[in-house]
Amino acid sequence: MNPVTESVSTLNKHPQNTHGLRSTNNAARLSVSESESEAERLAQFLRANAPVTILTGAGISTASGIPDYRDENGNWKRKQPVQHQEFMQSLDVRRRYWARSLVGWPVMQNAAPNGAHLFIQTLEQQGVVHRVITQNVDRLHQKAGSARTIDLHGRADEVICTSCGERHNRHDWHQVCASLNPHFRNLQADVAPDGDADLEMDFSGFNVPDCARCDGIMKPDVVFFGDNVPRPRVDECFEAINQSRALLVIGSSLMVYSGFRFARHASLTNKPLAILTRGRTRADELANLKLNADINMTLQIAASELTD
Ligand SMILES: [Zn+2]
Repeated sequence: MNPVTESVSTLNKHPQNTHGLRSTNNAARLSVSESESEAERLAQFLRANAPVTILTGAGISTASGIPDYRDENGNWKRKQPVQHQEFMQSLDVRRRYWARSLVGWPVMQNAAPNGAHLFIQTLEQQGVVHRVITQNVDRLHQKAGSARTIDLHGRADEVICTSCGERHNRHDWHQVCASLNPHFRNLQADVAPDGDADLEMDFSGFNVPDCARCDGIMKPDVVFFGDNVPRPRVDECFEAINQSRALLVIGSSLMVYSGFRFARHASLTNKPLAILTRGRTRADELANLKLNADINMTLQIAASELTD
């Protein structure tokens, strides 16, 4: 039997691991109790399998005020985000995208890492975490100090020319967009996960600047839905997993293949796979350990158990 599976099933035989708190009716204490037992299992997984590579998704950033795409069943919570082909082929789509991101981007730009990002960075310093791969484009792992994070789907804080590769800081780019489009400043709307916003209006008057160097189409440096992750980046992720003893997925339903393939790779190469995500994920059947618990609290308790 795989040592991970064995240690988990051993823990399950001892319900006193919940410290008796389940007998209270206090929901908060129940939540702490649940996180404690799940955190024990996570700490045991990390002790047995360090160093691990961590793959994170939108669920880790919601506590930083950045909404996620999907509900606990993996279904879309909102209209699907912009598609790569539509963005490249249609000026109307680009007008809508850039106008809406005048509203949506500042939220992501101003977001700060939460406890989960910081606990992961601590585990990285302790050698428990080899590398972090994130499906998020918010740069919160880097803000927390995880400098070697692989941005699987790119980074929203930079804008790139799709023809010549010219790069701009997104903050500066938005200053240009705002100065060209004074009527679109100060709009209010709910923010979407990728720096987009839930806003419908007439965008036909929006002036989208092209690349100053070659007149090419400018795009945030993120992999939109319908586009592919560059192969060297995918290979770097596989390499990180190959150099680790296990994979831990946090806050992702793995519904998109670009993330799911790493869970499958871990499974195919006999690396233990743990998943800390609320609700169903596409890789539940591959996981040696599935933790359906609060991300922040579980990581906090697990990190403190590992340092004891
Ligand atoms: Zn260009």
